[in-house]
Amino acid sequence: MRVLGIETSCDETGVALYDTSLTGGSGLLADALYSQIAMHADYGGVVPELASRDHTRRLLPLIEQVLIDAKLTRQDIDGIAYTAGPGLVGALMVGASTAHGMARALGIPVLGVHHMEGHLLAPMLEEDAPQFPFVALLVSGGHTQLVEVKGLGNYQLLGESVDDAAGEAFDKAAKMLGLAYPGGPEVARLAEQGDPKRFRFPRPMTDRPGLDFSFSGLKTHTLTAIRQLEAAGELNEQARADVARAFEEAVVDTLVIKCRRALDQTGLKRLVVAGGVSANQRLRERLALECQKREAKAYYPRGRFCTDNGAMIAYVGAQRLAAGEQDSDGVMQATPRWPLEQLAAPSAS
Ligand code: ATP
Ligand code: FE
Ligand code: MG
Repeated sequence: MRVLGIETSCDETGVALYDTSLTGGSGLLADALYSQIAMHADYGGVVPELASRDHTRRLLPLIEQVLIDAKLTRQDIDGIAYTAGPGLVGALMVGASTAHGMARALGIPVLGVHHMEGHLLAPMLEEDAPQFPFVALLVSGGHTQLVEVKGLGNYQLLGESVDDAAGEAFDKAAKMLGLAYPGGPEVARLAEQGDPKRFRFPRPMTDRPGLDFSFSGLKTHTLTAIRQLEAAGELNEQARADVARAFEEAVVDTLVIKCRRALDQTGLKRLVVAGGVSANQRLRERLALECQKREAKAYYPRGRFCTDNGAMIAYVGAQRLAAGEQDSDGVMQATPRWPLEQLAAPSAS
């Protein structure tokens, strides 16, 4: 089954084609992405109305592009999957309505899929894909969650952030340091020049048992540190780098401690790390060490599939559509808030 995947939940328009008759990464026939980051950068964050309008402009040309890349025509598509949530409602509507319109015209099934299930299963597109069951750390701009994954649609939430997501904290710390949006890669770059011994920032919620996270206190701590340096006239380039380093160390350390706990608690030996923050090099290095210690293994998506993309949506949609799942006739889904635990294994509908 050849499935067209459409991602428009936030600020990237992603489109891909996935073929279930081929396995893993070889099933990915084509993928294309248009990032709106430059457009939103002037505003220091995503402007929802501009995002929706830009998805409208980019989506159809991207669909044409993946068909050309895969040397296929619209008639070769057997099903369409789109991101139905969570995300910005106007942005989601663009993908949902395009998917439903095309599916109606072509007489093929269509299905709305969960954006975080996409992130979660993105490593399945890699040659070295994980097998079920595994622990997943989802770390993105809107989510920080630890999930026990027993199979497709079988997700048990082990812990999550009670306030800001890790990616959001990176973005806010970047803003405080005068860096561009999105801040994760910028903070990581500046942190390279920083002295890890100069400041030690708190590791929130690691002093007690449990797998929940909190990053808003760390954000306040960062702001206070910057203000104190500023007041003392010491906020030079080196000091900014030292703050970035202390912040990154604190976030990474917190994530690593909770992953270690989740692996111990579940007894599982496979750890999947996905979502934008999984691109962070220091996080990967630290998790590699931890996994080595307990004979576990960490799995990641390739760099461009860590952040939002159409490939992960095509993959998840293909698994579910091939199992017979589809949206009811003409019922478009756009669900801005949608807990991952509400998902179930594919069921014919
Ligand atoms: P969600 O998936 O929760 O709806 P989102 O789609 O906005 O949120 P992603 O696109 O998966 O999130 O990831 C973007 C986030 O990842 C941003 O917050 C960005 O700062 C962060 N990020 C990207 N690269 C890095 C990096 N190298 N280090 C730390 N953070 C990073
Ligand atoms: Fe995302
Ligand atoms: Mg994004």
